Amino acid sequence: MTGTVLILIGGSMATVVGGLWAAFKYRRKPRCSGCGVPLDTQNDSRAHIIPNALGGRLAPKGIICRSCNTTLGNVADNALIDAFGVWPTLLDIPRQQGQNPTKTIDTRNGHRVRVKADGSSTKVDVQYDVAVIPEGHSIQISAGDMKTIRQLLLKAAKEFPQFDPTMAEGHARTIQDQGDQFKLNLDFSPQAVFGGVSTAIWLYLFLKTNRSFMDWKSLLAYITNAQNQGGQLRYFVEGLPGLRGPQIDLGHKLIVRSVPATGELIAYVEILGILKVGGIFAKSPRPGFALEHIYVHDVRQETDRSNEFSIDGAEFDRQDWKTVGLSPADAIALRAHFRKALEIFIHYYQQRFRATPSA
Ligand SMILES: [Zn+2]
Repeated sequence: MTGTVLILIGGSMATVVGGLWAAFKYRRKPRCSGCGVPLDTQNDSRAHIIPNALGGRLAPKGIICRSCNTTLGNVADNALIDAFGVWPTLLDIPRQQGQNPTKTIDTRNGHRVRVKADGSSTKVDVQYDVAVIPEGHSIQISAGDMKTIRQLLLKAAKEFPQFDPTMAEGHARTIQDQGDQFKLNLDFSPQAVFGGVSTAIWLYLFLKTNRSFMDWKSLLAYITNAQNQGGQLRYFVEGLPGLRGPQIDLGHKLIVRSVPATGELIAYVEILGILKVGGIFAKSPRPGFALEHIYVHDVRQETDRSNEFSIDGAEFDRQDWKTVGLSPADAIALRAHFRKALEIFIHYYQQRFRATPSA
């Protein structure tokens, strides 16, 4: 009997605690941190901190509404995605939603090639050349698919009634364009990448601290300033000073740490292991304010590896964050770095197919 009474009391206590939680949650009506509208199931949005198209996994709800999410996409994220060009498709970066899109790439020999995420590629430029020769006319036809070839053969048959499209189709063959190569690039200019990096930091800080260290208007101004002049953002070509952890080839990193002595809030974003940008993001609200958040996502293995990383506080605090790394004005050093970054991607691509990146 005694035992039964004890269980009953335990049960009712649990109910009371549950009720308090519900009341607390109910009071905290989330509002959009951009425009301030109350968030509900209709307008709440999943805000990818690093874009889905670049393999980002953190996508919290309850921070911004759909409309403000679209704004961030337009002012910042789309440019960041474009900066990586066709690489997410070439490397088939695992996405949270959807597939990597088919992309069209120009080749060095002046062709256009359509590349799918599975690695297959098709030449898409259409050729229909008629030349007069002593025997009559010579017609050269090429296209990326048989459907287009047939259309061109019928066009030739209309123009030249003696031309037999069925016989011509029998002679059609697939030729490899030996020696041709994709024209590949990356655009890691401040205009391309600094907006998306600023957005990622802002959203990540919100996710971790449940508050914004910068209001919406200031964020948009910060993004514009970073895109135009670099602002306080710099390229950390060797990675974030003081960050300790294993080598991860294709990784995303998001680090935010305060420097209590100066009141600076230092943020660092690494995307796909090669774009490494950070700097002073904000001033902390009070002196001595200590904050440290580390997020590391292994894109290839699709695993969270945050707990394998730490920060050497002494080395971190020693940095002069206004001068560490490279500024956008250090053009020569940056060009060399981005060439190296491209080589790293080419290396991953070769690992994927064990072949040279030629069309
Ligand atoms: Zn909003």
